[in-house]
Amino acid sequence: MATPQAPAPDELARLKERYRHERERRVRPDGAAQYRAPEAEFGYYADDPYTAGPDRREPLHDTVDVAVIGGGFGGLLAGARLRQQGVERVRIVERGGDVGGTWYWNRYPGVHCDIESHIYLPLLDETGYVPEWKYAPGEEIRRHAVRVAERFGLYQHALLRTSVTALTWDEAAETWLVATDRGDAFRAAHVVTATGTLTEPKLPGIPGIEDFRGHTFHTSRWDYAYTGGTPDGGLTGLAGKRVGVVGTGATGVQVIPMLAEDAGHLYVFQRTPSTVDVRANRRTTAEDVGAGRPGWARARRENFLRIVSGEPADEDLVADRWTSSAGLLEKLLPSFRRQGDRDAFETAYEAADAAKMNELRARVEQSVTDPATAARLRPWYRYACKRPAFSDLYYQAFNRPDVTLVDTADTHGIERVTEHGVVVAGTEYPLDCLIFATGFSVGVSGVHSGKLPVRGRDGAELLRTWAERGPRTLHGFTCHGFPNLYQMGSLQNASSVNFTHVLDEQAVHIAALVAAAEAKGALVEPTRESEDAWVAVCAQDAPDHEWFHAECTPGYYNREGRGRPNGPTAYPHGAVAFHELLRRWRAESLEEILRARTSA
Ligand code: NDP
Repeated sequence: MATPQAPAPDELARLKERYRHERERRVRPDGAAQYRAPEAEFGYYADDPYTAGPDRREPLHDTVDVAVIGGGFGGLLAGARLRQQGVERVRIVERGGDVGGTWYWNRYPGVHCDIESHIYLPLLDETGYVPEWKYAPGEEIRRHAVRVAERFGLYQHALLRTSVTALTWDEAAETWLVATDRGDAFRAAHVVTATGTLTEPKLPGIPGIEDFRGHTFHTSRWDYAYTGGTPDGGLTGLAGKRVGVVGTGATGVQVIPMLAEDAGHLYVFQRTPSTVDVRANRRTTAEDVGAGRPGWARARRENFLRIVSGEPADEDLVADRWTSSAGLLEKLLPSFRRQGDRDAFETAYEAADAAKMNELRARVEQSVTDPATAARLRPWYRYACKRPAFSDLYYQAFNRPDVTLVDTADTHGIERVTEHGVVVAGTEYPLDCLIFATGFSVGVSGVHSGKLPVRGRDGAELLRTWAERGPRTLHGFTCHGFPNLYQMGSLQNASSVNFTHVLDEQAVHIAALVAAAEAKGALVEPTRESEDAWVAVCAQDAPDHEWFHAECTPGYYNREGRGRPNGPTAYPHGAVAFHELLRRWRAESLEEILRARTSA
């Protein structure tokens, strides 16, 4: 990590004290319990506004080669890599009306990906598509998801507007029985779970929220019928309306400038300001990114991953605020910590962090004309305590006379919602429309949530088998007692800010396992010993998250201020090392995971 101008020790001490103060101001005793799920009388907040009308079909009772739960980029990548391995009948089961996952649901005005599109969009080498913007708009990304599904024939067996409700291993037939909320009960030789993490919109449990008589919705279910316009703007339905938006996370930062443009008056209810760095979005050509060369997209994302993982790289192809802030983002990775002894690393990290945050606070000052508003927008915490955001329009929105920033930090958020509007510190703000940019519950879908029971050999339930000693997997994918079941995600696996890259490596690995099993007529199931060995690898060098998260302002990164659990939740040496480990394992040890079928 480059050491910028080291702040004087007394400045560092002052910053730390300020951060501590801001954190204390924000921590709430109710933690994550402050939020409400979109259920019961709030169920309509999660309804699908994009695919309307009846969708009748007969329940299915057929057999497929692989069931893939989830049609986001994880599921699409699994499907594509399986099809490349020659697997015929791949069935994606997806709750939404189409594929795309996060990009299906999040269509709010201004939605973009803030990871460079040439490394974020998967399968560019394979589909020949070259994104048009450095940071693609959501609609371009959603269309790419559709392109992938079409290109790899994944619509043929897909079940849309369908949720899997149970997975049961049929020992006699050695297949999975897959049950859904549409009455399907089909068989699959293999099952891949790709259910994502931030999947369910959450609402603040603000007293009186159910009393509001104006129009209201969550950003991930944008109501264009009410607002008019498209994700590119033109929200004519908001003309002359008093609009409130709650939340200034990565979503709020993107949507607020668009609302400011078209609302009669916009009230932004902020609790904790985001860090908002330079975006510098621009149109790109194939030549800009070397798209003529075979394998260009793979080379580009590998280069990005090396840089953000602290591995040596000859050049920085993406060259953006993620790569320039890599050490601050991934400071817990041993690859960064190797760059000097622990004390030297800590000193360099503290200095770099203070310099970066000073730069971001100065950006507010330079962009916002009213000093009181600027003061409220300055973030007081370490970099990456919250998801970094990027915009060249956000701060400027607060210079408009028709935008009001309402700081709710002192009251731990909005105090009350009434029939007519929102109350903060005793003042009521009358509103016609109230929009929640309040994010998503973490880990409430899929096999880890308890909502999707998975019964393996002898009826053993996956979460029960983990209850005592914690999750046990081989490489995060497979579990003893649960043959031919593969989990995608970061548990005991790798993670990175460019998560589609990680998902692609996972998809390649899973497809290789399925292909090997099918070629041999075998099952895929790790031994208990190999699981134990993998958990030990993950535990051995597990980074101590506590020191960082304990000092951060609350949010979903640190369980609303309670700190992250330590322990073997991820492979500790970073994604580059993990992908290399998987490649080696596939070349040398894959056979070890194959078991003879008894039903053969
Ligand atoms: P977040 O959880 O990041 O933000 C929720 C916001 O709502 C926070 O500002 C929070 O304040 C605020 N909030 C919650 N409750 C209250 C309350 N009672 N009163 C006032 N404010 C409240 O959700 P986002 O949807 O913004 O982002 C979620 C994730 O989605 C991101 O972290 C990122 O991973 C992803 N994303 C990625 C994008 C991309 O370009 N790649 C774009 C958008 C999102 P506080 O901080 O104080 O809790």
